[in-house]
Amino acid sequence: MEATDSLYVADGTLAELRVYTWTPLALSGKIKLSEDVDDMVYDAANQLLYVGHGGDAANPAKIAVVDTEHVTLVANIPVATHSEALEIDPKSRRAFANIADSNEFAVIATGSKEITAHRKLTKAADNVPLAFDSEHQLLYVACRTPGTLIALADGKTIMANWVISAADGHSTIFDLLGGKYVDTAIEKVYDERGLFPSYLQVSLGVALDLSEQPRMATRLLSSPLIVDPETELDHLGFRFFNFDPTFAPPGKTAVTCFLPTRNFTYWENLRRNYPVGYQEKKHRVAEAVIDILEKRIPGVRTAIEVVDVSTPATVIRYTGNWKGSMEGWLIAPGASFKPLPNTLAGLHGFLMVGQWVMPGGGLPSGIMTARTALKAICKHDRVPFDLHAREAVKPEPVAV
Ligand SMILES: Cc1cc2nc3c(=O)[nH]c(=O)nc-3n(C[C@H](O)[C@H](O)[C@H](O)COP(=O)(O)OP(=O)(O)OC[C@H]3O[C@@H](n4cnc5c(N)ncnc54)[C@H](O)[C@@H]3O)c2cc1C
Repeated sequence: MEATDSLYVADGTLAELRVYTWTPLALSGKIKLSEDVDDMVYDAANQLLYVGHGGDAANPAKIAVVDTEHVTLVANIPVATHSEALEIDPKSRRAFANIADSNEFAVIATGSKEITAHRKLTKAADNVPLAFDSEHQLLYVACRTPGTLIALADGKTIMANWVISAADGHSTIFDLLGGKYVDTAIEKVYDERGLFPSYLQVSLGVALDLSEQPRMATRLLSSPLIVDPETELDHLGFRFFNFDPTFAPPGKTAVTCFLPTRNFTYWENLRRNYPVGYQEKKHRVAEAVIDILEKRIPGVRTAIEVVDVSTPATVIRYTGNWKGSMEGWLIAPGASFKPLPNTLAGLHGFLMVGQWVMPGGGLPSGIMTARTALKAICKHDRVPFDLHAREAVKPEPVAV
């Protein structure tokens, strides 16, 4: 937050809002809230932060309003169930909250900090993401059941003509759409096609200037490193982030080590059911990696200030990627980069984009598949595909 030169972190597990100063990054304050501290939105005009939290019997759902200048809680607005997403409209001095479990959204007046309207959604449920288009005064509410985007303007509901899923392919087809539009071709892809593996990553903050190291180095191991019960590695790849001064303070270097594994169930199970064992295993892998790095850079161990280990369970938690895959489908022999269908048989007005329709994955897959999807929409709607068109078309509100 530029105005207060601070960083606000919603920590759902600790049930608190944590405040950090930027330089140096240090905890400077915290505000106790309820469990599941979640989405936040900043009201820059009033320097207020709206934070959704709570939602179980012991901790009723609320939206905290925090004065960021004095780091104090100025209001705690009760809502029916947990607030999943928040948006703000400085023009009309309103905040919006998606209250997914009650199929409604709430409008909050940022002046009085009170709820001024509730609106129930009737055509779709599980309304989690929210976005506000200030220019057109349109509130976009995305629902998961069924996958629908609703645009709301002045009490009117506009059902989306098109729904584009950029989310994980397996979740979209088999969970969100309940497998209703699976044909044999889709089944074959998800049953047979190869996936990029998942991975652990050991990240180290080292208080050494490692500018003499290469950017990447592979270490061949004399005895294999056991990552999990199904994975042994005979070499390790290190990356030394010594090529850009913004990665670490002067005299220090960020170093990462990537450890591929396909045993995502092992790590998921550990994280869910054996949290202590999970931490121990992560620690063991980190120690083994540091031992190997020590052989390359004697003395590095004593200079390590930060150790962070992510696992396939982390990948799944943060990206939702099927099986914790790093980047979706492998390129099948002979099939090259040929894209997969971006539509589902029997589901109209629906398209998919991203790595799950473009084997080989990677960041370019997002742009390439988005372009293909836009072209298809333009063709269907008989609108010229013009990348330079500047005028956005305002959707026509439709009464429900
Ligand atoms: C460590 C690492 C390094 C990489 N390095 C490179 C690189 O150097 N170059 C490169 O080109 N690529 C790289 N990649 C791959 C690249 O990041 C991905 O291929 C790319 O981000 C895929 O884009 P996407 O839009 O398809 O999916 P994502 O970027 O994964 O976006 C999908 C979004 O959907 C959300 N989502 C998932 N499931 C649901 C659901 N059920 N409901 C709602 N939302 C959901 C996710 O939270 C996510 O925000 C790397 C990947 C990793 C993991």
